[in-house]
Amino acid sequence: MKICRFQPVVLQAAVSRAGSETHPTALHGIVEGGSVRECSGDFAGGWTPGTRTWALSEVKLLPPSVPSKIVCVGRNYRDHASEMGNDVPPEPLIFLKPPSSIIAPEEPIVMPPISKRVDHEGEIGVIIGRKCFRLSEHDDVAPYIAGYTCLNDVTARDLQKSDGQWTRGKGFDTFCPFGPVMETQLDVKSATVETFVNGVKKQSGRGSDLLFSIDVIIRWISQVMTLLPGDLIATGTPAGVGPLNAGDVVEVVVSGVGTLRNPVIAQSS
Ligand code: ZN
Repeated sequence: MKICRFQPVVLQAAVSRAGSETHPTALHGIVEGGSVRECSGDFAGGWTPGTRTWALSEVKLLPPSVPSKIVCVGRNYRDHASEMGNDVPPEPLIFLKPPSSIIAPEEPIVMPPISKRVDHEGEIGVIIGRKCFRLSEHDDVAPYIAGYTCLNDVTARDLQKSDGQWTRGKGFDTFCPFGPVMETQLDVKSATVETFVNGVKKQSGRGSDLLFSIDVIIRWISQVMTLLPGDLIATGTPAGVGPLNAGDVVEVVVSGVGTLRNPVIAQSS
């Protein structure tokens, strides 16, 4: 089942005419072909279809969850670690992106003037369903996962390298597009993740190539911090990372989930 968060375009227009807040309340929906069926429910308990439907063309898709944090795994594909000149880490290597870096599908990635090299990193994203802390080896992780999404861990590569730690290089506003939906059922081992820039394939990886599986990653993170419903985990990027430039369009495609598409623009003065 493909779950989205959305706002009907007519409501957005009405709200902006009224001059009140710019964003009306977000709704959840189930994407069925070219339409969205409103649904009720939550990340922990699942989703119940409602009666009202909208054409996909009548809605603005939002990021599928509102995470309290975004936890990312570095160097989780052997071929990407080696293209960056790094060894494979003996244990999961994790870092954070701030929630302020999140943007919706189709919203622009803004190039920060203080970076000369901004890269795409297409990844499989995992959205947490139930609160968890200190999961043991014997705990089944599946009940804590709400679903899977496409994610672009946009990175100012020059600042990541020069700073040593990664908060600045990974943390700019607009550096975490994710969506367009959350797929509740995905066989990660047979899924592929591909990144296209202006229609040209740049990255291609398989869920089966993850050095640390999603179960291992979630157990590992839960030893450190409580994961909450809606939290987002970026599972690492395969080889082929490369630069983005203003005017580009970047797409991250996870098979069985969908296509996350964002234009890239220069920051206006
Ligand atoms: Zn990454």
